Amino acid sequence: MDRYDVAVIGSGIVGLFISYMLGNLHHDGRLRARVLCIDKECAVALHASGRNSGVIHSGIHAKPGTLKARFCVKGNRMMYQLLDRLSIPYRRSGMLILCTNDGGAGALEELQRRGHANGVDGVRVVQGDEVGRIERYARGDLGLWVGSAGVTDATMLAYTLYERARASGVEFMLNSTVTGIDEVVDGYRVEMVNSRQRESRRTVHARLIVNSAGVHADDIANMVGLRRYRIYPCIGEYYLVRRKPHLVNSLIYPIPTFDHRGLGIHLTKRLDGTIAIGPNAIYVESKDEESDGVKGRLNRSMDEFYSSAANMVDGINREDLEYGYYGIRARLAGYGSSEEPDFVVEEHPSNLIHLIGIESPGFTASPAIAEHVIGMIGDRL
Ligand SMILES: Cc1cc2nc3c(=O)[nH]c(=O)nc-3n(C[C@H](O)[C@H](O)[C@H](O)COP(=O)(O)OP(=O)(O)OC[C@H]3O[C@@H](n4cnc5c(N)ncnc54)[C@H](O)[C@@H]3O)c2cc1C
Repeated sequence: MDRYDVAVIGSGIVGLFISYMLGNLHHDGRLRARVLCIDKECAVALHASGRNSGVIHSGIHAKPGTLKARFCVKGNRMMYQLLDRLSIPYRRSGMLILCTNDGGAGALEELQRRGHANGVDGVRVVQGDEVGRIERYARGDLGLWVGSAGVTDATMLAYTLYERARASGVEFMLNSTVTGIDEVVDGYRVEMVNSRQRESRRTVHARLIVNSAGVHADDIANMVGLRRYRIYPCIGEYYLVRRKPHLVNSLIYPIPTFDHRGLGIHLTKRLDGTIAIGPNAIYVESKDEESDGVKGRLNRSMDEFYSSAANMVDGINREDLEYGYYGIRARLAGYGSSEEPDFVVEEHPSNLIHLIGIESPGFTASPAIAEHVIGMIGDRL
């Protein structure tokens, strides 16, 4: 049985950042720890990490005092530095949170309060003509401008981290679904099946494990008796507008409702100029993007996307919209809940760290989450 110091379960952006940072923990010029990153898919970042808006959030939306707030604000700063270091393109475009209805002013104040409490840089109220100077086609004359938000290519980042981690000696075992974890002397026995040929099994030994399995992080936690957490999968779909890049300069978000709908359908100008409209929020039973339970709920109507976009900017017509893509959020609260669940970072039993409920802003927060995990385990290696 192969023996590793650390097994990271999941090669989404969180597992990849952890692997990359572990790969950089060198000692006398050599990789100090033997690290394995396991994923059930044939490639990295095939789930939430490759199916999001690619927005580098500021941390203004997160409830003060939470891990989401702390890791998002720190992750935002770390992300820009890391993107520079890894030569990955991004645009620090800023975000306009637009007040388009009468009830929005109170929520705008709450956002300002959160931004201030969370230590978010570059937040100011914009009104009247200034809104139009920032976003010429915006509808509304009151908003909040957040200068530290931006956008990048999440998939390009994931692949770069994968290559860098591999180059530094981290091993990857893809097509391998973790099916069981047993506590043994000096660590854990991790059981896997080949995701394509289920009869083919493999077992490795790891002194430490990090569970960064996205929507399945609660299932992995269940394997070692941590049953407190339940993930409610929630689809987010996008429509795309390809031919009108001039309609949006930055990122245009609605006033959030702070409930089960997430941040609301927004407009993201991606690096290639395409405007992404989404995501919506549809709670489903299945965590599998390819299952009938998920596919049967997709692409029902573009009305919600069109009306949200038309409510925020002038110039988008129904025929400009084409169906884009979708991802599944790893939410720790179900439909109708007004909870704002936090990220969970929990060690149970010792030397097994679970990262559960890493929904938005998990992409932004991922380098800070990884740094935190390395801080927890670094001196045990
Ligand atoms: C629609 C949508 C939009 C979003 N927009 C943004 C945004 O703009 N900005 C932002 O900051 N965040 C955003 N997020 C959140 C962000 O994408 C996630 O928080 C982040 O990608 C989570 O990364 P992860 O590594 O935890 O999970 P994942 O990317 O889901 O990776 C988990 C990995 O674990 C593997 N795995 C699961 N179970 C097993 C098993 N048993 N054995 C082996 N491998 C397993 C999976 O195959 C997968 O590769 C968005 C999310 C969604 C869904």
